Amino acid sequence: MIIDYKCPNCAANMVFDSDTGKLHCGSCDYEEEIEGYQKTYESFDTKFHTASYGDEEARQYLCKSCGAVLVTDNHTAATICSFCGSPMILGERISGDYAPTKVIPFSISKEEAEKAFKKWCRKLKFSPKEFTQGNKIKEVVGMYVPFWLYDLRGQGEAQFHCTRTHIYDSGDETITETRHFDVYRQVDLTLKDIPADASEKMADTLMDALEPFDYSGIREFNTPYLAGFLSEKYNYTDKEMLPRVTKRAEQYMDEYVASTIHGYEAVHCKGRDYHIGQLSSEYALFPVWMVYYNYDEAEYTFAMNGQTGKLAGDPPRSIPKIATSVGLATVLFFLVFRIITVLLGGPLL
Ligand SMILES: [Zn+2]
Ligand SMILES: [Zn+2]
Repeated sequence: MIIDYKCPNCAANMVFDSDTGKLHCGSCDYEEEIEGYQKTYESFDTKFHTASYGDEEARQYLCKSCGAVLVTDNHTAATICSFCGSPMILGERISGDYAPTKVIPFSISKEEAEKAFKKWCRKLKFSPKEFTQGNKIKEVVGMYVPFWLYDLRGQGEAQFHCTRTHIYDSGDETITETRHFDVYRQVDLTLKDIPADASEKMADTLMDALEPFDYSGIREFNTPYLAGFLSEKYNYTDKEMLPRVTKRAEQYMDEYVASTIHGYEAVHCKGRDYHIGQLSSEYALFPVWMVYYNYDEAEYTFAMNGQTGKLAGDPPRSIPKIATSVGLATVLFFLVFRIITVLLGGPLL
């Protein structure tokens, strides 16, 4: 089932507006609040469970605005009609087991994203000139990426060997005194809202680089937030993603324990034993602007946090530019080195 939001004034399609946080009609400027909006998808929830099509099948949808047939892959949850540009939300893909509970709405518009990307390009020092001009953008696409947010409890203990050194003069001798300590810590931490992206298509490193998201912007999920954007349902369940967040939780615990040990010159961890359990998980959609950029017959993919504007991705490097800067550094180093040797009375050349 396709969900769309028709303007009650002029029947045009309304889309989510990142400036106001409301549904907006591009034809007559009508606006509608989203919070408290009736959750449309609940009404066809049962229908979804009796629908008979394989999860692996591609699905065909009829655009309600222009009648074109769209083929989506089996993970698409929201898309835009490639013929008429109408937003389409695929109800089955956001209901039942796939119903998100939380969303961070876009707060950066497409125009702002494009502008910020171009500005970022201009500042790239080691990229080819044609790339830094930022005018080869192929497409900027707003995408709600599925994430799991975990609350975890981490319990355990860690042992350290620490030393404190004291150096002093006694008569004509210098004495170094090293004292050894066994340090023991027991921890019991509750870690809240640790994110892990649950989409197969999105590279984990790219998504991790977009963090942090500002959790004060989290809203209860409601379908109109998706109007005008692309979205996917998760590929991995919260159980499948748990090992990945467990690793992150261990790092947080290490950092926390380390922050409680003070006053030693050397701290060496002898061993640790953590148990991490899942308290709860929530399915959330986070906003990401995907920027596809053509350069030198290749396509580069960048991602921008749709809430904070933080950018991630690897721009191409220009070898001559890097070589020049390494060359300069060598010359400078050589000069400094020369000057120092001369100061020290070394030969001039
Ligand atoms: Zn209207
Ligand atoms: Zn259409």
